[in-house]
Amino acid sequence: PESLERLRSTIRDVPDFPQPGILFKDITPVLADPELLNEAIEGMTEAFAGQKVDKVVGIDARGFIFGALIAQRLGAGFIPVRKKGKLPWQTRGVDYSLEYGKNSVEMHVDALAPREKVVLADDLLATGGTAGAALQLIQESGADLLGSVFFIELAFLNGREKLAETGPVHALLTF
Ligand code: IMP
Repeated sequence: PESLERLRSTIRDVPDFPQPGILFKDITPVLADPELLNEAIEGMTEAFAGQKVDKVVGIDARGFIFGALIAQRLGAGFIPVRKKGKLPWQTRGVDYSLEYGKNSVEMHVDALAPREKVVLADDLLATGGTAGAALQLIQESGADLLGSVFFIELAFLNGREKLAETGPVHALLTF
């Protein structure tokens, strides 16, 4: 549709960021446009329309923006998953490997209750390493995962396959 085309063409490709050889998808021009921001959130929320959602989990840092706005639309609360050492209360963490090196994400131990209906949200699905770690934290909490939603999916990196066992994976735009 026309509106998705406008969203797609507003995303800025930045070569060699944050490292040489990476073509970074910069979503800040979408955030800056009130109509496009609204469309992005509406489109991402559609996947869970009519479902009762208790919490949306968003990943540090752009996942906070998308996740919090989606949570508001769904009448859900928001839970941050953060990089190691950033959350103030007791946490549980998951280490995961990146193309080069390792990373670690954490969630508060009391953020999710068993059986709560939970959605994971982030700006972009690449290899699926980050989302996979966040999904593991959700599963360890005993909550019920309804699925995950991304503004952008980089399909050539096959992140979707890595997340397939955890539940439905939705993406508004695919590159
Ligand atoms: P993955 O773990 O390889 O799937 O990488 C996804 C994570 O890296 C997400 O949290 C994204 O915010 C971030 N990321 C990776 N590539 C890009 C990009 O091109 N634009 C924006 N964020 C990106």
